[in-house]
Parts: sequence; C-alpha cells; structure tokens
Amino acid sequence: MSSTIAGIATAQGEGGIAIVRISGDKAVALFEKVFVSPQKKSPYQDHLLMYGHLMDGSEAVDEVMGVVMLAPHTYTREDVCELHTHGGYLAAAKAMKLLISLGAEPAQPGEFTRRAFVNGRIDLMQAEAVMGVIASRSEAALRSEERLLRGGQSAFIREAQEKLCALLAGLEAHIDYPDEIPLEEAEEGLETGLNSLCAKLERAVDIHSARLIREGLHVAVFGRPNAGKSTLFNALLGEDKAIVTPVPGTTRDVLEGSFPLEGFIVHLQDTAGLRETSDMVERIGVERARQSVSMADAGLLMIDASSPLIEEDIALFRQELPKNCAVLLNKQDRETCVTVEDIHSLTQIRDIFPISAKEQKGLGAVREYLKGLLKLSGEELLTHERHMSIVREVIDRLHQAQRILQGNEPVDLVAIDLHEALYLLGRVTGESVDEALLDDIFSRFCVGK
Ligand code: GDP
Repeated sequence: MSSTIAGIATAQGEGGIAIVRISGDKAVALFEKVFVSPQKKSPYQDHLLMYGHLMDGSEAVDEVMGVVMLAPHTYTREDVCELHTHGGYLAAAKAMKLLISLGAEPAQPGEFTRRAFVNGRIDLMQAEAVMGVIASRSEAALRSEERLLRGGQSAFIREAQEKLCALLAGLEAHIDYPDEIPLEEAEEGLETGLNSLCAKLERAVDIHSARLIREGLHVAVFGRPNAGKSTLFNALLGEDKAIVTPVPGTTRDVLEGSFPLEGFIVHLQDTAGLRETSDMVERIGVERARQSVSMADAGLLMIDASSPLIEEDIALFRQELPKNCAVLLNKQDRETCVTVEDIHSLTQIRDIFPISAKEQKGLGAVREYLKGLLKLSGEELLTHERHMSIVREVIDRLHQAQRILQGNEPVDLVAIDLHEALYLLGRVTGESVDEALLDDIFSRFCVGK
C-alpha cells in the first residue's frame, strides 16, 4: 500500500484559486476531515464539484470547492481529492498544513505523475510530456508535447520495438534450429529490415528540428554602425526596445527580443555595429556581436544603401557568416546607391531584400525569408534530449549489427546487438528503467504535478 500524498498543484503567488490535490488510499478519509459541504451525500458522488468550507476542527477557515475522484479514473489511478481554495499565499498552505497534521505526506516533485506512470496509466515518455507541456513557450513546442502526451512518439518507439522483435525472432530461430532454418533464410530480410529501421530512427532524431521546436530560431542582426539594425530590430519586435540615434556606436551590447512566427519563437539579437574602434566598451560590444553572429542559426546583414559601400561593409562578407544569411539593403526611402548587383559581386548570398526599416517597408519579405527557415524534417520527431540520446545509442547498435552481417561474422553476435537495442528502446518508454532514472526524471518536475 502506498502512502497518501498532498501537494499544491497551482503556481505560487496571488491568483484567483489554488488547488490542493490529495492522492492515495486515505485521500477520501482525509478530505472528509477538512471539508464540509451542504451538498454532501454519503458516499460522495464521484467527480462532482461541491461547494463547501475548509475546516480546522470546527472552525471554517476558507470558502472552497471540493471534488472526490475515485480510482481508477483519475490522474494517478488512485483515489484523488481536490480542494480549490482561494489563491494567494495562505489558504492553500493552510489546507496543506491541516492535511499533513492528519497524516498526509507532502508530495515530492512530480510524485502525482510518477504514480500515474507506476500505476500504468501512462508510459515514461508521456510522463515527461506533462512537464514539457507546462514548460512550452511556443505553439510548435506545445503541439509537439501534446503529441508526446497523447502517446504519438510512444507508438513510434513501440513500432520500432516490434520490428526489432520480429527481426530477432527470425535470427534466433536459426540460432536455435540451424538445421531447420538455414543461415541464408535467417539473413534474408534481416539486412533490409535493419536498413529501413535505421533510416526511420535517424529521421526521428534531427537535432536541427528538435532545436527549432524546443528553442526556436536564433537570428542575429548585424552590420556596420548606423546601418539601421536597431530600427529593424524594433520594427520586427513591434516595440521600441533598442535605442535608435543617428550617433554611430549607440548599441554596445547584444540586445535580445523574441516574437512568434508560424507558431515558432524567433529570438532576435541586435548587435553592436561591426567596426574597428579604440573605445574599450565598444570593442567588447563588437566582440560580443561577432560571437552572436557565429552562434546564430541565421543572420540579417544590414547595409545602409543610401551611402556608398565602404570597407566596413565589404569586410562583413569576408567574415564567417551563418549558414543562412540574408542581406538587407536598408533606407530605400532615400536615394540609394547600392544595388542588388553590387552585392552579387561581393558574395554568393542570393537572399537580398531592399527595405526601409524606418518606414517598415519590405519587412514582409524578411519575415517570409525567416518563415522559410522554420521547416521541420518530418512528422515523427523526437525532441527530448533523453529520448534522442538513447535512440542515437540504438542506431549505433544497429549499425554495429549491420557491420557484423556484412563482415560474415557469427550471427550470434548480431543477436547480442539487437537485444541491447531492444533494451535501450525500453528505456525510452520506461519498460526497462530503474529507480535512479525515475528519481532523476521526476526530480525535475514541479511539486503538485
Ligand atoms: P544601427 O546603428 O545600425 O543600430 O542603426 P539605427 O537603427 O540606430 O539607425 C541609425 C540612423 O539611421 C537613425 O537615425 C535611424 O533613424 C536611421 N534609419 C534607420 N533605418 C532607416 C531607414 O530605413 N530609412 C532612413 N531614412 N533612415 C533610417
């Protein structure tokens, strides 16, 4: 019999309500001691939200709603009760204090979800998705975590397990009965089966797509001082975050802001103008700007097209540029003297957009360019680092099995690698896990989830 736990499921701070959740064999008995309701029927009606009061002995300490949810149709598959107290700092804490004095144990981080996993309602990937949903910062991340929560990626891993089991079954039949099932028959299909499984798993662990979903796209705006970088930064963010002046060298540090695009987050960085300078503070800014450009997924290289190209502009094309980079010919509202052809003579970059950051003209094309970078490699994507690193190990094992097959070594050795791969896949879904791994995963949860 497991203990009965209680935890505050809502975020700390001032808010309309706070929810205290109780789970375990004694949940209903404990709930009954702290909650009175004119609606109460004996026994409680399952899943019915009731009006009532939180009681400290005979004293009503808060006006609350309460609900009893009986196993197995609950979050943990145990009896679960909830008290919806007023929000803020005290009411829920008072309810917790009362429950603990009556014998409930304070829930550890993620303990409710851990029980849902241990009691078989969800697998480990789904349990991890619960925190993923809570931590999502973009629609793309939320969509991916919701799919994980519904068991989409679990089904993908299970399919891989089934495929691997079928391949192993054929191989082991030969190992056990070599006279009846000859080697050629066992090997038939094994090689093609392994190839297709590897390809499928490799498509699912695309680092670039996973980062796009989890973190978004990092874009650096760079160029020489006064090209209009801060003006563009503000225009794309839709707020006056960066200081815009005609004085060159105003932006001395890297400024960051983000905006949503096609359900992803774009993290935009406005950088100090790249030029040689004797000013110490500006020099540090220039160094940070170069770092920001080298680490960005994409760059927007700003040129002031209203004045002739100078050495500082030309030098920009000689530095190492992000893999994706567009050139923006700014200040088109003025008479311009830099053309698209001029840029062609300096660089291979073909994404060149004439814009006026100040008048917000041509920015649609810049957004379209960024949208073009927000493409995922496929549907069946893993995004959690834990899942990806295990699947990479699985792929290594399968590659090793392929090498053994091609090297005509004993097939028993192939079976060892396939067994190991199968065990590893079980670690993704939680079939082959130990307490230490579970402790590690659930310790990262919030209390009350
Ligand atoms: P940064 O140093 O590259 O960040 O450039 P700023 O954004 O601070 O702009 C420098 C100067 O150029 C400011 O006076 C801006 O108002 C001006 N500026 C920026 N974009 C444009 C534009 O599209 N047209 C015109 N005419 N002026 C602009």
